[in-house]
Amino acid sequence: TPRILSGMQPTHDSLHLGNYLGAQVNWVRMQRDFDAFFCVVDQHALTVGPAPEELRRRTRVTAAQYLAGGIDPDVSTVFVQSHVPEHSQLAWVLNCITGYGEAARMTQFKDKAGQRGAEGTNVGLFTYPMLMAADILLYDTTAVPVGEDQRQHLELTRDLAQRFNARYGDTFVIPEAHIPGETAKIMSLQEPTAKMSKSAANQNGNLMMLDEPKVNTKKLKSAVTDTDNSVRFDPEAKPGIANLLRIHSALSGESIDALVERYAGENKYGALKTDVAEQVALVQAPFKARVDELLADPAELDRILARGAERARSVAAGVLERAYDAVGFLPSV
Ligand code: ATP
Ligand code: MG
Repeated sequence: TPRILSGMQPTHDSLHLGNYLGAQVNWVRMQRDFDAFFCVVDQHALTVGPAPEELRRRTRVTAAQYLAGGIDPDVSTVFVQSHVPEHSQLAWVLNCITGYGEAARMTQFKDKAGQRGAEGTNVGLFTYPMLMAADILLYDTTAVPVGEDQRQHLELTRDLAQRFNARYGDTFVIPEAHIPGETAKIMSLQEPTAKMSKSAANQNGNLMMLDEPKVNTKKLKSAVTDTDNSVRFDPEAKPGIANLLRIHSALSGESIDALVERYAGENKYGALKTDVAEQVALVQAPFKARVDELLADPAELDRILARGAERARSVAAGVLERAYDAVGFLPSV
């Protein structure tokens, strides 16, 4: 069976609605048709310098949210990136076939480095895309379910795999990005031209899966919209309203056209926001309850992750060996 792999960074205790709608919903949908690997990418999260106890806690909470959102650990392989040393081992090899200029063109690096300034920017942030390529290529992954923001990293992954294969002989499977339609980029409520981000400076723009519903309701009430007072789906001219319509539609299953009709007329922004808040609470409440249950038994969670790491290593070790052999590393036995 073809494989999928995806992951999230434990850069915050809670995932936001963008992570859920842009990535996780597809993970759950795809896990039965593919041999699925879902990784908590703690090595990527280290690039933003978390406190050790924070990183540990967030790694567990993120894994719990995978399961709470519908990932079945008996069907999918759920594991922690740092438990599988092959990820950083392959990343080194990929670093050595990546052009400096090619890496410097990555817009996520430019954005994050821009926000953090030269002093706050470490080399890990720069080599992040090659570690991500290793995450994917290590499992002979055919499809990678991610949000729109990962498209460029996926293109780089494909380029590196093709380059490696051309230079050293057929070694890696070339993966495809699997990016959803309307939910690929859920926008910040405060700045509807930027995506929701766990690491955003203004957290008021994020709907967090583990917040109390009333916190999200309040954030939605103060969501930035526009002054023309009529609900229409126009992402260019009315990004705030388009974002609310997309969120409502994704959660309720109603079409955007039907929603536009429902909120026709003047002064319906308030009603739309209230209804979105209700839809968000409907998924969020059981999600949070399930996370609390899972966190009440951390030993069981750790057992699931240990089992996942073992399964992941059994695949990754073979692919790494193939790559090591191809580049000419001397076998160690
Ligand atoms: P950070 O700010 O720390 O980078 P993030 O919010 O970007 O956090 P990631 O852990 O980097 O989240 O990404 C996890 C997954 O969620 C990826 O597949 C990514 O494409 C997807 N994703 C992130 N933000 C959004 C969003 N606003 N809309 C849709 N998908 C998203
Ligand atoms: Mg991100």
